[in-house]
Amino acid sequence: MGRSNRKHADAVAVIGLGRFGGAVAVSLENQGHEVLAIDERDDVVQRFSETLTHVVQADSTSATAMKQLGVGEFDHVVVAIGTGVEASVLTVLTLKEIGAQEVWAKAITAKHGEILSLVGASHVVYPEAEMGQRVAHLVTGKMMDFIEFDHGFALAKTRAPQEAVGKTLGETKLRSRYGITVVGIKTSEEEFTYAQPSTMVREGDTLIVAGPTTKTETFASIT
Ligand code: ADP
Repeated sequence: MGRSNRKHADAVAVIGLGRFGGAVAVSLENQGHEVLAIDERDDVVQRFSETLTHVVQADSTSATAMKQLGVGEFDHVVVAIGTGVEASVLTVLTLKEIGAQEVWAKAITAKHGEILSLVGASHVVYPEAEMGQRVAHLVTGKMMDFIEFDHGFALAKTRAPQEAVGKTLGETKLRSRYGITVVGIKTSEEEFTYAQPSTMVREGDTLIVAGPTTKTETFASIT
């Protein structure tokens, strides 16, 4: 524990150490949180025992096993079993049964996600679908990065459009013309800085823009 400066480390149980769950567990531990990683497969547990501090072999559909491990007392539990829909649903049910408060669960399809919510998952994530959408924006558009939040609001990383070069952000009037807000700007090798009306846009600058998804898409298309 403790490679970061966080004041508060959470205790998180991560169930299912496939590609997604493994990445979640390692990332949480790197952020300084206390992680208990669980998988039913011995070879998977062996593999992660070199990278993670606490890895145990257990069947997460067994209430007895989950109780023994104290999984119900963790601040958050992540159910990262995706392909085995039955095991993922039964795991969430078991966790609710033993009193787990906050359960994050990975879903493969919309129906799978609905079932997970019905049986008590507090947050359902669709990593494949979300990453697919994101990559689609990067492949077909001119965005260098893209993240969409609820209700069609997005943040995008784009090149500064030619029409803005040599002007200050205030002078470019990008907000009124395109309905987006430039929140960060970066000149070649320098760090990102917060965008100010007085910030000068230079050839080749990178922008972080925020706005409704369709507007950020339109804006990126002119860059
Ligand atoms: P990914 O697509 O992210 O690789 P998978 O769904 O293929 O995810 O991987 C899920 C992991 O969950 C596997 O390592 C598997 O052994 C584990 N798993 C599946 N069912 C259970 C269970 N009942 N208890 C604990 N671990 C499980």
